[in-house]
This record gives sequence, C-alpha cells and structure tokens, in this order.
Amino acid sequence: MISFAEARTIALAHVAPLGTEEVALAQLLGRYLAEPIVASFDVPLFDNSAMDGYGVKVADVAEATEERPARLTLQGVVRAGDAVTPELAAGGAVKLLTGAMTPPGVEAVVMSEFTEEREGAVLVTSPVKPGENIRRKGEEYRKGDIALPAGTRATPPVIGLLATFGYASARVYTKPRVAVLVTGSELVAPGEPREEFQIYDSNSAALDSALAALGITDRAVVRVRDEAAPLRATLAEALGSADVVLAAGGVSVGEYDLVKDVCAELGVETRFWQVKMKPAKPVYFGTHARGEREQLVFGLPGNPVAVLVAFHEFVKPALLKMMGAAEVGPLLVLAVVCAKLKKKRGRREFVRGLAWAEEGRLCVKATAGQGSHMLGGMAAANCLIHLPPEAEMVAEGERVEIEFISWEW
Ligand code: AMP
Ligand code: MG
Repeated sequence: MISFAEARTIALAHVAPLGTEEVALAQLLGRYLAEPIVASFDVPLFDNSAMDGYGVKVADVAEATEERPARLTLQGVVRAGDAVTPELAAGGAVKLLTGAMTPPGVEAVVMSEFTEEREGAVLVTSPVKPGENIRRKGEEYRKGDIALPAGTRATPPVIGLLATFGYASARVYTKPRVAVLVTGSELVAPGEPREEFQIYDSNSAALDSALAALGITDRAVVRVRDEAAPLRATLAEALGSADVVLAAGGVSVGEYDLVKDVCAELGVETRFWQVKMKPAKPVYFGTHARGEREQLVFGLPGNPVAVLVAFHEFVKPALLKMMGAAEVGPLLVLAVVCAKLKKKRGRREFVRGLAWAEEGRLCVKATAGQGSHMLGGMAAANCLIHLPPEAEMVAEGERVEIEFISWEW
C-alpha cells in the first residue's frame, strides 16, 4: 500500500491543464489565467493627487506655520476627470480633489486639513516635501511589466487589476467536464419514499455541490445499482465525454465493489488503489487514454466523510491543476491541540477539526463524531488535522498541522 504523499504525487502527475478561452471580466471570478497580465501602460496613468488639498510650489510654503500661514492665490479647481489644466504659477495654489490630474508646475499637494480658503486666497499652515501626496505616473507599473503570472486565480483584486489596464476579458483555462457515478443498491434520492432497508443518497448532493463550489458547471451525477452491467454502461458513457470521472462507493474489497473491475474492463489503467490514510483508505485512481489526453477516474470510498476527504485531498487539487492553478495546496499551518488525539501508527489520519484563535494562538480540537460515516463531524469542522504516519498520540498542548477546509480553491 502506498503513502498518501505518494498517491497525491501520482494523481497530480497525470493532470495537465485543458485548453484556453477568452472570458469577459464579469464571468472571470475563480478562473485561472492562462497568460500573465502584462501592464498595457504605466499605472498610475498620470501624476494625480492622493488627497483632497491644494497643489503648491514647495518653496512657497516652506516657512508656513499655524501662526504665520503662507498666503497663496487660488488659481482654480481640478476634480478627478477634469481635462488637463494650465501650469501653476509661483505664489499660486490650485484646489485638487483626490484623483485629479496634477497641473504642470505643481510640486506637492497640501492636505486640506492644513489649509483655509479665504476670499480667493489659500492660507497654508504647514510645509510640504517635494512630491508629497502626489501619486506618480508609473509608480506601481511600467508599461510592459508582468503584473501577475499565468496560473493566478481570478479574485476580485486580480479582476480589478485587469480592468485597471483596460482589459475587458482575459485568457483563462477551460473548465473540465466531470461525471459522477454514485454506486449503491441501498440508495434512494432525497425526497423520495424509502423502504426501511434503504438510505438516502448523500454523496450525490455532496459531490455535486463540491464541484459547483469549484466553479465546475459541466457536471452530471448518475446513481447506479451495484450491478456490473448498468455500472459498465454508465461508466462507458461517462468516459465518452468527461475529462474526470468520480465514482463514489464500491471500491472496497467486497464482492459487490465492482468499480475497479469495470474500470479495468473499459481500459482504465489502475494508477493506485488503497492508500495508507484514514478515512478513505480504499481510494482508487486510474487513467484512460483518449486521443492525446488522459481522462482521470477517481474511485472514492462511499462512506460520506471518506468521499469528501478524498475529494478534498485528491480530486480538488487535480481539478484545480487542470483548471490551470499554479498552486493547489495543501496549505498547512500549525495549531495547538486542546484535547489529546489518538491514532494508529503507519497511516496519515485526517481528523475533522475545529480551529479557533485564542490569545494570539491557533487552537484546534477534533469535532464530535469522527466515524467515516458521521457527516455531522465534518459538517461542524473548519479544518482537517493532518496527523502524519509516524504519530501515535498527540498530547494536549502539542502542535499539529492543520489544513483549513476550503471547497472553492
Ligand atoms: P461502499 O464504499 O460502497 O462500500 O460504501 C460504504 C458505506 O457508505 C456504506 O455504509 C454505504 O451504505 C455508504 N454509502 C455509500 N454510498 C452512499 C451514498 N451515496 N450516500 C450515503 N451513504 C452511502
Ligand atoms: Mg456500496
């Protein structure tokens, strides 16, 4: 059996970004840039005032104090969006509102707090340094600079930056098509009547929303009984179009765990099966050649917590990499355990945890209900405590690595 780290490396090694497409800013949130953002011009575009105040010549206010203010002639007003204005003369001041293009000759801007306007004159009570309160042309970006690299996630500031450069769209990676096959003859759709020996299917809804959270729109979820023929037919159909297939349930060692066999029959090559981890030990990963590309097939153990832990740790990074993300985590941070944790040696355990800040430290405890069938323990969690294989017991006060649960990225 391989380690979690090995399994993750194997899975990610088979992932390559898909094609690219041009997407308008309004649809860009959560997508990954396929090209770097290049500054189309200097930013700021022109010298402008950082404050509401008065543009002056430094020498004219060098001696200014509250007792003996400098008296300057008000030459005019410039607001953001006003056209280019005449040069500032010595002894003059020009009222500038934030973002106003500074007229030629303005050496600094005195904040309005240090001024008083009186009958066509401006009294200035404080000196200024050259350039003070002026945002200089090109001080943030020079034309041609790489503002952000390819692989950057389109977040609100990234989208704002694209707009700053005048771009109405950006080239991003396309999103994968994902097919989900939820196996189990015991399953009934929520909202339907149920026999006493049946259970409601929670994995369909959980996985569908996990895909939605990643921004995946082209997704289909099908429920299948634990019978080879329908399973084969559904998997074959999924392999006909999907970039990634998720099979939930049916990957253990039981007689009715048919996913691996059916995968093999359809030409899916097993890359790994069974990983030294808890939950989700029976997790399966295979690839299927389709033209130039490999389709990915994940077999996620059916227990509702195992499904989601395996999704978070294997499927999510794979999908993010496929969508062009330069960084796919996990981002581990240290937290202090506030109640002791026990585990078995030799496997990585993912304890569903709740972390909080207390007196400048990050604290964490396991949530109630750690069974891999106990979804409530994961619903109440905000992190996964990563307990490494060599650990056996973690005493109260010791530090552990935690990964905040994030379904979006
Ligand atoms: P399996 O991996 O198919 O052996 O399933 C492991 C456990 O998870 C069994 O108790 C199943 O009944 C349960 N299970 C499997 N699929 C689902 C599902 N879609 N919704 C809820 N429970 C499930
Ligand atoms: Mg099953």
